[in-house]
Amino acid sequence: DLLSLEEGTFCLANLHCKHVLCFASGADSGNALKPETDAPTLSSHSRRRRQLKVEYDKDGSMPQLKTEPWEPPRWKTQLENIRAMRSGRDAPVDNMGADKCHDADAPAHVKRFQVLVSLMLSSQTKDQVTSAAMQKLRAHGCTVENILATNDETLGQLIYPVGFWRNKVKYLKLTSAMLQKEFGGDIPDSVEGLVRLPGVGPKMAHLAMDIAWDQVSGIGVDTHVHRISNRLGWLKKPTKTPEETRKSLEEWLPRELWSEINWLLVGFGQQVCLPVSPLCSVCLNHGLETPDNLCLPGSNQHDLCLSVPRLITLDSREKAGEVCFFLFQKFLTQISKTTVKIT
Ligand code: SF4
Repeated sequence: DLLSLEEGTFCLANLHCKHVLCFASGADSGNALKPETDAPTLSSHSRRRRQLKVEYDKDGSMPQLKTEPWEPPRWKTQLENIRAMRSGRDAPVDNMGADKCHDADAPAHVKRFQVLVSLMLSSQTKDQVTSAAMQKLRAHGCTVENILATNDETLGQLIYPVGFWRNKVKYLKLTSAMLQKEFGGDIPDSVEGLVRLPGVGPKMAHLAMDIAWDQVSGIGVDTHVHRISNRLGWLKKPTKTPEETRKSLEEWLPRELWSEINWLLVGFGQQVCLPVSPLCSVCLNHGLETPDNLCLPGSNQHDLCLSVPRLITLDSREKAGEVCFFLFQKFLTQISKTTVKIT
C-alpha cells in the first residue's frame, strides 16, 4: 500500500518502519514532513506519483527488526542442577585436570610451561593417563631445556600411553624450541601467540590463558562441553565441531561463567552425561531439555535415556548385549519408518 501513497497523504497505519519514515520525512529529497493542514490540495491531473526510496541493508536484504538476544529458555535452572550434581567435586577432572598437574613449587614460567604441556598431553586422553604421564615428566624434569635435551625415544617412553603419543613427542619438541627461541622460555600470553605453537589449538589456548595466566579469553570447549551443550539445547542451532560450539556459547553465556563452565561440564560429562549411555535416570536435568534437544521423546537419545535405569543394574557383558539389542530395535524402527514414507 505504501507504494501507492501519493504526495501529501499519510499512512493511516502510522507504522514506524523505514519505509514510512523515508517517505514521510522526505529524508532523501530534503522535504520536511508537512502538517496535514499545510498539505497542498492537488487536482487530479496534477497528481503524480512520487518516487519512494526504500532503504535496504547493504546486502540487499529487508531491514531487520531488533530482537532480544537469544538465550536457552531454562539454562539457569539447568546450570544450577549441574552445580548441585558437581558439588562433590569428585570427578577425574577435579583431581587430575590440567590445573592440577604442575609443580606448585616451581618458578612461575616453569609452572606455566607445565600447564601447557599437560594440556597438550590431555587431548584424546583420559585425565588419569595425562596425570600419570605428567608425574613421570616432572620427575624427569619438565622444563623447556630438559624437554629439548631429551631424545624422542625417552620422551615417548615418558608420556606413553597418552593418545597420539608419537605426534605429541614431535609437538613437545617443536613447541619447546619455539618457546626458547621466541618467548624466552615462557609461554605466550595471548591466544594468538599460543595457537601458533605446534599442537596447540583454540581449546588449549583458552584454557592455558585461564589456568596459566589467570585471564579468561574464551570458553575451553572439549568433547564433553561440545556434547553436553548440544544435549541441553544450549546452542541456537546444533553444532558439529567444538569450535562452532565455543562461538555459539560465547554469544549468550555471561562472561563471568566462561571459566567455570568448562570445569562444570567436563566433570558432569565424566560422571553423569556420559558419551554413551548417559545416566539420565539420576540426572536432575532430565525433562528440562529444549525442543531441539536430542533427549526429547521420539529421538534416539531419549530412548537411550529411558533404557538407562535397566542398563545400570546389569554387568558389562549383559549391558553390551542390551545396548546392541536396543540399537538393533532402533535400526528396525527406522527402517519401518522409512518404508512407510516411501510407500
Ligand atoms: S538427561 Fe541425560 S542426556 Fe540429558 S543432560 Fe541429563 S544425563 Fe545428559
